[in-house]
Amino acid sequence: MTSENLFAAVIGDPIDHSLSPDLFKLYCEATGRSLIYRKLHITSDKLKTEIELLDKKNWAGWNVTLPHKIEIKKYCTRLDATAEAAGAVNVIRFTEDESVGYNTDVEGFLAPLKARSFEIKGCRTLVLGAGGAARAVCLALKNEGAGEIIVLNRTIERAKTLAESCGGRWGGLEAADRETENADLVVNATSLGVSPVNKGVRFKKGALAYDLVYRPARTEFLKAAEIAGVEGLGGMSMLAAQAAATWKIWFGETLEKGLVADSAKTLEETL
Ligand code: NAP
Repeated sequence: MTSENLFAAVIGDPIDHSLSPDLFKLYCEATGRSLIYRKLHITSDKLKTEIELLDKKNWAGWNVTLPHKIEIKKYCTRLDATAEAAGAVNVIRFTEDESVGYNTDVEGFLAPLKARSFEIKGCRTLVLGAGGAARAVCLALKNEGAGEIIVLNRTIERAKTLAESCGGRWGGLEAADRETENADLVVNATSLGVSPVNKGVRFKKGALAYDLVYRPARTEFLKAAEIAGVEGLGGMSMLAAQAAATWKIWFGETLEKGLVADSAKTLEETL
């Protein structure tokens, strides 16, 4: 595979909102690498044919976003250990013969927490949502020794399956306000579009509210945390960190932490 006319894309439905092309543009400019990175709108019914018919020899890979992170596993020729454990794929690396599935959301989720020395070990953690991103979050929390993991989701069956995979408790989203009061870390991993907790919700003193959503930068969930007087963390740092981990998988190069942090800031300013 040469670096000339090398393609990559982020696939999802919807996909217009994605900032991944902007992020990869910044990484390409900083490193001098040439990569044609696109957004591909692929609906669930087309997923199988799109991946099977793709001429993979000129492709580095795909980033995979909602709602395909779980479904796409079936079409990968193999999964790496983290994707296997998370049960979700957000990166594919193509070779002529293979479509290998990876999960960089686990590393991407942890990177901003590590950067602020947030200690997950022993924490009571609350995860709102049970989709592809929540799977990565729960695996990360389990690996880091969280004291308790509670998963709340609209579809309770999905919350149960995910909570059981990480030794946690589960319930419906209507318990979100109550459970938030006792959690050290509250993660919004829903694509709900509005806050999964109410504005007057009480957070535990010293808690961290982490919204995986990065657009807008100040989400309704983060506003609720601000009103309650606790710290909030938006999804842009995670987006930049998971993209840097993707870069490592596709090109074998580690991007400088400063570049990753600056790129997240640059994009946040454009919102
Ligand atoms: P997904 O697999 O489609 O899961 C969506 C989740 O949101 C499910 O738990 C779903 O509940 C819930 N949900 C959707 N609509 C809802 C509604 N109207 N009411 C209540 N719950 C609802 O998506 P995903 O890939 O996990 O992504 C989740 C969010 O995280 C998205 O906003 C995505 O942009 C963000 N994300 C950010 C990053 C980052 O790098 N910052 C990385 C990954 C994801 P059901 O199970 O009941 O359908």
